[in-house]
Amino acid sequence: MIKLKTAEEIELMRESALIVSKTLGMIAAEVKPGVTTLQLDAMAETFIRDHGAVPGFLGLYDFPNSLCMSPNAQVVHGIPNDTPLQEGDIISIDCGALKNDFYGDHAYTFEVGEVSPEVKKLLEVTKQSLYIGIREFRVGNRVGDVGYAIQKFTEEHGYGVVRELVGHGLGRKMHEGPEMPNYGRRGRGKKFVEGMTVAIEPMTNMGTKSIKQLKDGWTILTADGKPSAHFEHDVAIVNGKPELLSTFKYIYEALGIESDEEDEFTSSTVKS
Ligand code: MG
Ligand code: MG
Repeated sequence: MIKLKTAEEIELMRESALIVSKTLGMIAAEVKPGVTTLQLDAMAETFIRDHGAVPGFLGLYDFPNSLCMSPNAQVVHGIPNDTPLQEGDIISIDCGALKNDFYGDHAYTFEVGEVSPEVKKLLEVTKQSLYIGIREFRVGNRVGDVGYAIQKFTEEHGYGVVRELVGHGLGRKMHEGPEMPNYGRRGRGKKFVEGMTVAIEPMTNMGTKSIKQLKDGWTILTADGKPSAHFEHDVAIVNGKPELLSTFKYIYEALGIESDEEDEFTSSTVKS
């Protein structure tokens, strides 16, 4: 079900989204060879609670932890464990927070030490595809326009677009309508209107788009064992246009990255 949000509700959602953004920024400084995903998960849970929120994933559909931790060939929904990260790994970290009855939910794929150029390119293309999709999330467009744009750009690079998992509406529930696939046809699907809030989240495989699931009932990984990347933002339609509720700026501050990629999607009232 699609729940449109008032301006006040969108501000509450921004608060929840920013807790996730800051959590990922804190985690960014801790992602290095030798650290375990369970250690990072514990840090994130403490940080989220210290900011007056509740981890959004913990217990949701019985998920056991606060962060989804998906290294290398894992696409999404990996469960934190005590295996140390290694130089050259990538780790997709998805984080949720619940505050004032609204969820924040976004994700970033981090490099552990130095990664290979081809993996770096996978991450760059996946992140670019996220913004290409967000650009289509505006009044008058439809769900298929976002999916088409992401799919076209991704497949032009020879990568696989995961079909079985999709983005989603976001609000008082972690998963509201509409579903936001990362593939689609122009002009198809639900029409976007003012006050819609969604999580857009391309999941991009270096090789085949096919996936499989581990027996743990959660972990999704690529069928061919090649790496997969995942980037996610929370976005609202404000004044007809896409506005980011989440930000990667805390991650970039931690990693010393300069970027203006969010500027076109940032409200003038929250820019400073
Ligand atoms: Mg997520
Ligand atoms: Mg999501």
